[in-house]
Amino acid sequence: MTSEQTFIAVKPDGVQRGLIGPIISRFENRGFKLVAIKLVTPSKEHLEKHYEDLNDKPFFKGLITYMGSGPVCAMVWQGRDVVKTGRAILGATNPLASAPGTIRGDFAIDVGRNVCHGSDGVESAKKEIALWFKEGEIQEYKQAQFDWIYEKP
Ligand code: GDP
Ligand code: MG
Repeated sequence: MTSEQTFIAVKPDGVQRGLIGPIISRFENRGFKLVAIKLVTPSKEHLEKHYEDLNDKPFFKGLITYMGSGPVCAMVWQGRDVVKTGRAILGATNPLASAPGTIRGDFAIDVGRNVCHGSDGVESAKKEIALWFKEGEIQEYKQAQFDWIYEKP
């Protein structure tokens, strides 16, 4: 399905370190389509909802502070298998375990400063997109290069 979507975010450390461009380029170069993007400093309540599955973890409080410490670049990317492939482009959660060539493997060291977020499944992607974006903020358009990226739609 070329209509699969995932939620990708450049975290506050990635924004401050000037990594929005390089991170977007990884997804653009691969052939994925950007359908929504905005800079937002998320509230504590918003982040507690986004990370609700982790609320019993010892690092939860620090994670919420980190993620709310400045603007986040929130995006929706679309394309075939983009959820799983997006995670592969990001690399392992712990940057020290991320392969070189991945975003975290190239730009990060500490797990608590791992510069980017990506949905971990199709269902969580739907939930995260609905949490971060209103319907009208998501664009529908055909990529000019579509037929050069996909053999079959
Ligand atoms: P992700 O899906 O790869 O982002 O990983 P998780 O969903 O497991 O965790 C969410 C985020 O919490 C990670 O991206 C890290 O920023 C942070 N995190 C996860 N594990 C740890 C940890 O052991 N220590 C700290 N400080 N942060 C962590
Ligand atoms: Mg996760």
